[in-house]
Amino acid sequence: MSQDTFPAHLVREDLRDFAGYSSARTSFAQDGDTPPTRVWLNANESGAPSLADPDGTSRRYPAPQPPALVEAFADLWATTPERVVVGRGSDEAIELLIRTLCRPGGDGVVITSPTFGMYAVSARLHGVPVIDVPQADDEPVWRVDIAAVAAAAREHGARVVFLASPGNPTGSVVPLREIAALTQELADQAVVVVDEAYGEFAAQRSAVTLLEEHPTLVVLRTLSKAHALAGARVGIALAHPDLAAVLRRVQAPYPVPEPVTRLALEALGEPAMRATREHVGQVLRLRDQVGRWLRDLDEVRILYTSEANFFLVRSVEPDALLGTLRRAGIAVRDMRHLPALEDALRITIGTGQEMDALRRAVAGATTIPESPDPLSPLVKESPA
Ligand SMILES: *Cc1c(COP(=O)(O)O)cnc(C)c1O
Repeated sequence: MSQDTFPAHLVREDLRDFAGYSSARTSFAQDGDTPPTRVWLNANESGAPSLADPDGTSRRYPAPQPPALVEAFADLWATTPERVVVGRGSDEAIELLIRTLCRPGGDGVVITSPTFGMYAVSARLHGVPVIDVPQADDEPVWRVDIAAVAAAAREHGARVVFLASPGNPTGSVVPLREIAALTQELADQAVVVVDEAYGEFAAQRSAVTLLEEHPTLVVLRTLSKAHALAGARVGIALAHPDLAAVLRRVQAPYPVPEPVTRLALEALGEPAMRATREHVGQVLRLRDQVGRWLRDLDEVRILYTSEANFFLVRSVEPDALLGTLRRAGIAVRDMRHLPALEDALRITIGTGQEMDALRRAVAGATTIPESPDPLSPLVKESPA
């Protein structure tokens, strides 16, 4: 198989020539012989702006893939606009990939538990079997068994493999060479999706750097975590141009609301990007600090290494720890419903103040050593 073509047989047979919805935006083509259109009466939009939107910026249907936003993402990831599909969070990209590549009620999706819940939810909603290849718990990291993933994908005829790297809730990364090897190995059968929702917090290079060489690789990124725009619902899939084109046709007609495009463009502009990079740096420093004192707590049995903006911990008495935090008004994620995580919590790294509140709450319930080290982080005054 040639390195630079996407194997068309991976797309659902009944969607290979599917044109998608033909909207007023996509079906009107200006030809060179006529004067430019000045009066737009082809989409039943309002002629006058809403009082809520006096400038009328939201009066018309938006472009399905706003060109400026697509360009900005392509620039950010040093790739080309044809590879970018913008959607309503990575959640939408996950669903689009499953719907595009798996027959309803058939084929299969491989996940590696413990992992992000939306892969299985989206598969289930499409009636697609989920094949779980549990990760190895190599305290203090989790390891995806790439050979086992490849074997399971083959055995069950899976069309999509989801790898979150860094993983949620594991915080561990899948090495790039393993991602490349798996993608290569399954290239005639399945698309490998690397979900990099926490990529900004990881030391490893992005899998975006593998896209050119691996047509069946897809990388997901989001504005929900490091970029602090979870409420805006913006995520992107970076894929081979042929696959990206099919994903756009499968997608609902106007996935990116106009106010969201403005917000996202602002977030990708230089001032906001500089602030985001600073903020990420701050989270990484806090991750070091908080990791050090969390690891030393009696309540914490295992603190997993994190390449993301959270910690996964196993607690000696998770009930007591959760209760302590709840009484202090602090919510952390109880992970105990997940297989292999029957004593685990996931704690987001918030602001310095929030981390101080966490530390104080846990300290209140800890038997503080007889003669505490005056410089121990548990009792030291926090920097402003
Ligand atoms: C938070 C998260 C996402 C983000 O989803 P959005 O829909 O973009 O908000 C995606 N994948 C993983 C693994 C996550 O933890």
